[in-house]
Amino acid sequence: MAARDRYSRKLECAKCGHAGFAEVSETDDRRTSGRDFKIDEMPRGFSTERQSPDPRKHMMKCRCGAVFRFEQDTVYAPGGEPRR
Ligand SMILES: [Zn+2]
Repeated sequence: MAARDRYSRKLECAKCGHAGFAEVSETDDRRTSGRDFKIDEMPRGFSTERQSPDPRKHMMKCRCGAVFRFEQDTVYAPGGEPRR
């Protein structure tokens, strides 16, 4: 029940093009509103600007100074549920 999903996600800065893969985990219970999102391993050159349990609100900061959402327009939906 309390299992967590682990996956890696590519982060790409729209400003300077710097990219890297973050290892993240979140709860696999999709009925809860909070996904308990957590970054386990941060790729080089990126840092957390503002922590959030929701990856769509979690703000990342690139080494160039650009700030962007961890989860942007790409859809994360292994269970269906398209959203943008
Ligand atoms: Zn950048």
